[in-house]
Amino acid sequence: MNDRLPYDDRDWTPPKHDVTAQLGVVKFKPDDTAHLEIKDEQVCRERCRRKFCTHSCPAQVYRWEEEEKSISIAFEGCLECGTCRNGGCPYDNITMRYPRGGFGVQYRFG
Ligand code: SF4
Ligand code: SF4
Repeated sequence: MNDRLPYDDRDWTPPKHDVTAQLGVVKFKPDDTAHLEIKDEQVCRERCRRKFCTHSCPAQVYRWEEEEKSISIAFEGCLECGTCRNGGCPYDNITMRYPRGGFGVQYRFG
């Protein structure tokens, strides 16, 4: 796990994107087992000021819960894009697997 950010994030502002309309037509078949996991919640609490995952995930799966001081994960809405394990968390603090066969986002081709 990376202990330090590879860049200075003091001037970083979250990107603005709203894909609510597109997400409204995506179909999911949720598994009963989470395929996304935070490796170390202490890193989220104490090191990660910007909570990058709450901005980098296009499906807004990750949410910072201020009262609990932890990230909640709505894995049922995951698009399986892989962003969260490929730079979406600069601390490499997310484990992302794919859901079991037949579960998860249901993409249609053709
Ligand atoms: S970006 Fe990574 S370290 Fe920061 S809150 Fe999200 S999971 Fe935690
Ligand atoms: S794989 Fe993509 S949609 Fe799923 S949680 Fe990670 S960033 Fe979000």
